[in-house]
Parts: sequence; structure tokens; C-alpha cells
Amino acid sequence: MGKIIADVQLVTPGEAVRRVSVSLTDTGEIGDIIEASDTKAGDEILFDGGGELTLWPGFIDIHTHGAKGFDLSNATLEAVETMAEAKLAEGVTTFLPTTWTASQEQKLNMARAAGAYQKNQRFARAPYLHIEGPYLNPDQAGAQDPSYMRPPSVDEILEIHEICPVRLVSLAVELEGALEFIRKMSDTGIVTSAAHSAATFAEFQAARKAGLQHLTHYCNQMSRLHHREVGLVGAGLLDDEVYIEMICDKIHLCPDMIQLVFKHRSCDRIILITDSIAASHLGDGEYPLGDTKIIVRDGEARIPEGNLAGSIAKYNEVVRNVYELTNQPLSEIAKSSSANQARSLGLHDRGTIQEGKLADLTLLDADFSPQAVFVGGEIRYSKN
Ligand code: FE
Repeated sequence: MGKIIADVQLVTPGEAVRRVSVSLTDTGEIGDIIEASDTKAGDEILFDGGGELTLWPGFIDIHTHGAKGFDLSNATLEAVETMAEAKLAEGVTTFLPTTWTASQEQKLNMARAAGAYQKNQRFARAPYLHIEGPYLNPDQAGAQDPSYMRPPSVDEILEIHEICPVRLVSLAVELEGALEFIRKMSDTGIVTSAAHSAATFAEFQAARKAGLQHLTHYCNQMSRLHHREVGLVGAGLLDDEVYIEMICDKIHLCPDMIQLVFKHRSCDRIILITDSIAASHLGDGEYPLGDTKIIVRDGEARIPEGNLAGSIAKYNEVVRNVYELTNQPLSEIAKSSSANQARSLGLHDRGTIQEGKLADLTLLDADFSPQAVFVGGEIRYSKN
């Protein structure tokens, strides 16, 4: 007798979608994957998918600033818990709380809040921080505060890393000292990603040589493709190995651009993110953001100057958008929703549905709406 998630359509990278039941171990991992008809009378059925719900490896959102009225920059346990609970309802089982550009003191406070959440992690897991800013190019600031922006500092990252482990740093790779910084981060096991950057293609190549592995919110606040200087947008299409984060909310990237990128880049290197902010899960209105505010209208979140300020998209919605726009099979999309980020960030215990991996799983209906979300084999979110 064992615990099982019964009669679901299994969605995992590299395998055709098929109808199965999934058994779970007592220690929260995935056990056997069996034919749905092989369920035994004594099995404890945690959830019955009725042959129709799709079971996905839990989504991994590596770029999220906030949700439901809270932001990591509130720097409280309550803020991180609120984000973690909201993410879970989107089908996300692991997320990286992501900083905004701020002073080092503020960042240390954010790290303390994320560190406090790591002690219980009662909703989605939050194993690492993503540091976005202040090592950004003021000319590509977007909604981030240029007054804090400065060249990268290894010491600052290591100071944060002591409080709460950092696994991803987004920076403008053309800044003074950036190449040396990227090398040092690689040596420490921290992944670097080009962001808010006006880098030329040559500067991108130098950064890649130093160890750069990702492009942050591809196309947003980065050097555009020009026919005599392809910039970072061109780099994302030319370099088959670099991982590209995409905000597929149909606002940060229009539907045509989403189709263009999926046509030219493999799902093996695309990582779906929300870049969600405190206004997500709340609806239209005005919300504070540092010294300014964000105005949310018709699904778009902008600062008063008009720049987009992160998204209010939910993770399951960006997965649905990709499915509807690209004709990619679900098992390919699962690479971009879970497996790639796990591989890139060294989270080798999750990201696919295979025996021995963590039982972090998301059950979706035909509309990509989460019906149940499991973390370590426990139901932590249930729609009903
Ligand atoms: Fe950003």
C-alpha cells in the first residue's frame, strides 16, 4: 500500500504524454510510475486526476519580486511567505525571491527575510536568492532606480550570500569590472545573467567567455537587434547554448515575438519567468513601489513615466500562453517551465517527473488552472 496521485496525464520532458498513476514515497519523493489501471485497492489516493488532468513537474520561477501586495523589498518574513503562498497557487513549487535595485543595507535586509522563510518553507520552496541590480546600466533602467546603480562588487554579493544563498545575479555585462565579477561568480557556483544592459554583441561574447550563462527577461531592457550590431537580442537568437528567460505575458513580449523566439530557439534553453510584482493577484489599481508607484490597468503594470514595471502574470498563465502561441508539445514546454531552470541552477533533485526526484508536482486542468499542487508529496494547494 502506498500513496498515489491516480489517473493523470503525465507531462515530463523527453516523454510522450501518457495516462499513468504516480506513487509517492514516505520521504516525499516520486516512486513508481505505473499504468493508471494498475492502481491497487489498498492504495491511498491523494488525488484522482480522472484521466484528464495533466501532472507537471512543479513550475520553477527564477525571477519574481513579489505578489499579493507584498514585495521582497518589504524585507519581512510575512512578505516572503505571502509570495510563496501566491506562487504555489500558480503551480510554482520552487521560486527565487528576486531583489530590486537598492542599497546594500536594504539588500541585506531582504536576504534576512528570505533566510527566515528558508527555516520553514511551508508553501513553495525558496532555496536561493536572485539578485537583480544594482549592477545595471542606467540607460536601460526600466522601472529600477538608476540612482543606486553602480559597477559590480564581489564582496557585496558574498556578504548577502552569507545570510541567504545567492544562485543567480543579473547584471549589465558592459560595466567596469563585469568580466572579472562574472569569473568570480562562476568560481563560487553563482550563475550570471545579462540584464538591463546596452552590451554590444562583442561585449556579450566576452561575458560568455568569462562564464555568463543567461539572458534576463530577454528583449526587455537590453540592446536591440540592429542589422549592423545585433546586440543582446541578436545574441539570444545566435547563441544556441545561452539560456533565455522570457516573460510570456503577451505584454513584455508580443505574441509575434514569442512565436519568433520559439521558432529559432529550442525549448532546451528557454526559461519561462513571471517577473511578478506586488500587484500580481490584486487587479487594477495603484500600488506603492519604493519611492514611486505602479499603475496597473488592463493587465499592464507601469511606473508613472510609462515604463513597464515587472508583470502581474501568473506562472500557469504564461505556460498557457506559450502552449496557445507556439504549438510546442506539452513535454517540450515542461523543459521551459521546470527542467531547464533546475539544470542551470544545479537543483538536480527536481524539474522532471522521474523516480527519486522530489515529489514537487502540479496538476492542471484543460485551461492550465492548477487543481492541486504538491511539495515533497504533500498537497499544499488545492483549488477546492
Ligand atoms: Fe528587470
